[in-house]
Amino acid sequence: MELFAVPDLPEIREGDDLAALIRERVDLREDDVVCVASTVVSKAEGRLFDLEEFPPSPRANELATRLGELTGEEKDPRFAQAVLEESTELIMEAPFLLTATRFGHVGVNAGIDRSNVADGDLLLLPKRPTESAERIRAGLDADRVIVTDTCGRPFRHGQRGVALGWAGLPASRDWRGERDRDGRELGVTVQNVIDELASAANLVAGEGDGGTPVVVVRGWSFGDHAGSDAHFREVDGDYVRQALREWRYT
Ligand code: GDP
Ligand code: MN
Ligand code: MN
Ligand code: MN
Repeated sequence: MELFAVPDLPEIREGDDLAALIRERVDLREDDVVCVASTVVSKAEGRLFDLEEFPPSPRANELATRLGELTGEEKDPRFAQAVLEESTELIMEAPFLLTATRFGHVGVNAGIDRSNVADGDLLLLPKRPTESAERIRAGLDADRVIVTDTCGRPFRHGQRGVALGWAGLPASRDWRGERDRDGRELGVTVQNVIDELASAANLVAGEGDGGTPVVVVRGWSFGDHAGSDAHFREVDGDYVRQALREWRYT
């Protein structure tokens, strides 16, 4: 298996046809997985906003004030307002805003990005990343597309790539019912392959000014397994999320 970045992509602007830009720069092969950083999907989809466009509600003012007091860093209430507007649930209010986005992803600041965009600008995540992935896939005539983001995760330092949307492959590969080397039947392992591929792609894409938001994974096979499209956990059965709702930062 091999991974490489699509070379020479320009700065992406609203209305750009990402699929066409990719197609012009790479000859895709059957079974390639094209991983696209959500940053450029958002730029193409016009998800770049100015802070001015988010006049803060009383709730956003309250959240920003409390965050500022707790962290000692001034927080812009307009930013808090943007986070609230992108979210269906505020899971943690401090020491950072952890929310669930409308499409089911849980992340700090609803995934709103201020890197690789101009000052004062906010880049919101794509509205429906799976639809974005489907659109790019159709435009590319590619087999498989994943829209990624860089995200922190609990219990570990640092960030890594995760999948926000996907098309042309199942989210997970189900090993249950298969056997390990001692013949024991596997009871629980459902391997989230889209996150694993997104992580690998993110390793190549980088985080800074590399200009490599699109990475092709070549030569990886899903294999002969059952698949599932379950990716984001439902609140029901997500015990960590339920516990966080009850928890308060002091
Ligand atoms: P995220 O992980 O989706 O939040 O995206 P990042 O901001 O981490 O950027 C991932 C990669 O895409 C980095 O190599 C950036 O330099 C690159 N990148 C971001 N925006 C653009 C763009 O508009 N054009 C190009 N060519 N590269 C970009
Ligand atoms: Mn991001
Ligand atoms: Mn990134
Ligand atoms: Mn193991």
